[in-house]
Amino acid sequence: MTKVYYNGDINEAVLSNKTVAIIGYGSQGHAHALNLRESGVDVVVGLRPGKSFDQATADGFDVKTVREASAAADIIMILLPDEYQTAVYKAEIEPELTAGKALAFAHGFNVHFNQIVPPADVDVFLAAPKGPGHLVRRTYEQGAGVPALFAVYQDVTGQAKDIALAYAKGVGAGRAGILETTFREETETDLFGEQAVLCGGTAELVKAGFETLVEAGYQPEIAYFECLHELKLIVDLMYEGGLAGMRYSISDTAQWGDYVSGPRVITAETKARMKDVLTDIQTGKFAKGWLQENQLNRPEFTAITRRESEHQLEVVGKELRELMPFIKQGKKEVGSGAKN
Ligand code: NDP
Ligand code: MG
Ligand code: MG
Repeated sequence: MTKVYYNGDINEAVLSNKTVAIIGYGSQGHAHALNLRESGVDVVVGLRPGKSFDQATADGFDVKTVREASAAADIIMILLPDEYQTAVYKAEIEPELTAGKALAFAHGFNVHFNQIVPPADVDVFLAAPKGPGHLVRRTYEQGAGVPALFAVYQDVTGQAKDIALAYAKGVGAGRAGILETTFREETETDLFGEQAVLCGGTAELVKAGFETLVEAGYQPEIAYFECLHELKLIVDLMYEGGLAGMRYSISDTAQWGDYVSGPRVITAETKARMKDVLTDIQTGKFAKGWLQENQLNRPEFTAITRRESEHQLEVVGKELRELMPFIKQGKKEVGSGAKN
């Protein structure tokens, strides 16, 4: 099995004389900044004026412009939305990225797809919690952590790996386990997972199941419960005990139906389409399309988001969730998790 690093394997002293600039104070940014500070790391936050700026200030941080924070720091962690990182990097970070500093990311997209090309004389690493930012913060406060990946892209100081591990420990991931990867592996598997399985695959599976029942004359409310609401309960069982753990808890009838019908729905044809999706990620075709879509101010993204919000599943679901106030408690995490 691949090596998993825990707190005891990691020397946080490599951060003791360093300042970390957290650029961005959104889902990941607020969690990294607060957790690192409580782990004893010297943190400055870099932002433009606005909502996040006010929040970080209220949380007691030394908040500067992105350029000033980059100038003040030894380690610059970019936690802006991926699609805006390149412009901010070129204008405000690159000029302050002097020899021997470290540039860090929580997702490899911009480095791997050549949007950000770091100078040759800085360390470049990845420290990516495998969970939404609000969970990264909440688990840290509870004394636990979210697992993380780390990767070293460039090591000029000879310390890049130790710094990456110490950073991940400071965020709390050393309590849960830290695995080594590469920028390429993290970027391609992250994109594939969210497209084929976690977000794209699951959303289409849920919609197709819902539509099949409604078109056959069943009540949309019943279809919603069967195809969407119960999914969380099943996924929780998979999370705790894998497929076997899930199958242990469901009825034998459900388990038999799983065996005979699952492979009729997700077929060899589906897997061939997954391979196409992976190929588009590996060749850069997906990245190119997403970057172009952003340059054009997201016409297709906007149209699809509107169309999806009008789907009967969403209309019925909104009404039903109003009747289940207990669901709202987890809304913050669900919303931010969907971003990555
Ligand atoms: P968010 O969208 O939650 O946060 C964005 C932050 O960037 C906000 O504080 C926003 O401030 C600030 N910002 C946006 N544009 C600018 C700008 N031009 N100048 C200065 N600040 C700006 O981002 P995420 O936390 O979701 O993502 C950050 C990174 O973490 C990405 O690389 C992502 O892939 C990665 N990641 C995210 C995960 C998640 O849970 N969401 C999980 C793992 C990795 P303002 O209020 O001013 O708009
Ligand atoms: Mg059932
Ligand atoms: Mg992602």
